[in-house]
Amino acid sequence: MVAGVNAQNGAGEHADWPVRLHQRLADVERWSVPLQAIVRKLARNEPLTLEDGMVLFEHPNLPELGALANEVREARFDRQAFFNSNVHINQTNVCVLACRFCAFRRGPKASDAYALSVEAYVEDVGRYAHAVDEVHSVGGLHPEWDVTHYEAMFRETRQRYPSISIKALTAVEIKHLAQRSNLSTKSVLQRLKDAGLTSLPGGGAEILDDDIRAIICNGKESSAEYLRIHREAHEIGLPSNCTMLFGTVERLEQRLQHMISLRELQDETNGFQCFVPYPFLPDHTRLPEAQLSTGSEILRTIAVSRLMLNNLPHIKAYRMNIGDHLAELALQYGADDIDGTVQKESIMHLAGSTAPLDHNRSKLARLIQDANCVPVQRNTTYSRFENYVPPAPVSRRALPMAQ
Ligand code: SF4
Repeated sequence: MVAGVNAQNGAGEHADWPVRLHQRLADVERWSVPLQAIVRKLARNEPLTLEDGMVLFEHPNLPELGALANEVREARFDRQAFFNSNVHINQTNVCVLACRFCAFRRGPKASDAYALSVEAYVEDVGRYAHAVDEVHSVGGLHPEWDVTHYEAMFRETRQRYPSISIKALTAVEIKHLAQRSNLSTKSVLQRLKDAGLTSLPGGGAEILDDDIRAIICNGKESSAEYLRIHREAHEIGLPSNCTMLFGTVERLEQRLQHMISLRELQDETNGFQCFVPYPFLPDHTRLPEAQLSTGSEILRTIAVSRLMLNNLPHIKAYRMNIGDHLAELALQYGADDIDGTVQKESIMHLAGSTAPLDHNRSKLARLIQDANCVPVQRNTTYSRFENYVPPAPVSRRALPMAQ
């Protein structure tokens, strides 16, 4: 178990992190003048406003912003960085929608359209079951599947592999299943939970602004529906993550309002475990006007997320999207989690990701150590933790410099 686990709460963080943060930020003069008012608020664990967020986005000294986010991260977790052993299995790429940023979806007649039967899905899980404790599954909105298909999929998976958690389905998939099954979204969530669903991964939030959604993902659930479905999940005891797809056509104010909307729901339910901000990847998509994000913008957005979301414990550097090198740096800019071993993934890779898929625990742990962090393996719900020390690499050429 993690050293000092008794002093930590269920999310793996220090229960007294606000006190620790207050102490760490006591010397306000240490920070440059434009940040000092914000540092005072952070020290009191007061939520930042949209205007504060704009100051952070416009602050010219990115390393200083990263250092501030890192103070919050270390008050919560010290140098621990979390990962898990998981596999991504995308159950179908057939989708009735056609979001403009999506390189994954296919029409039902496309030559490379696929839809895994329950048996094929469970067999796929079985190929990785010896090495993972979580299967992460999201996919298209299949025109024929209703809730019974997913009930069978989850039930069969849990029966054959009871130690594997199922983190699956985005809010729009829940909405689609509700429509297909003539049920409320809450009933669908309850039935899937009863069949073995452990949590929701949080994808599909994109930017919670209906004008932006009309441009990039017309036909998807509205911002209010995304929030309502997550609220319902939390109400029935299904935790979830939440995401933000940035770098399409949104303004900075809309990114910040997105974070504030999630923070407000978290105030109500405390059901979000992790925030996953990731940039738009442009390959094969139909969004030529997208702004795209630079490496420094990605690090800045992760740092701002950490500072804005004072009630959300974990911030993920989603290495499947931003790649290993940037994920390593992000661990010093406020992120504390890098997702998992993954093994297999289609959605980000079709959009242009080159992040390696063959990571085992040792490789992930070394990536974390290279960021001067302590690797901690977690389960899906951030309720079980284990320090993981990777075996020493056979040969590794490195010059003797500071990390
Ligand atoms: S993002 Fe999801 S809902 Fe939108 S087209 Fe792709 S698979 Fe379908």
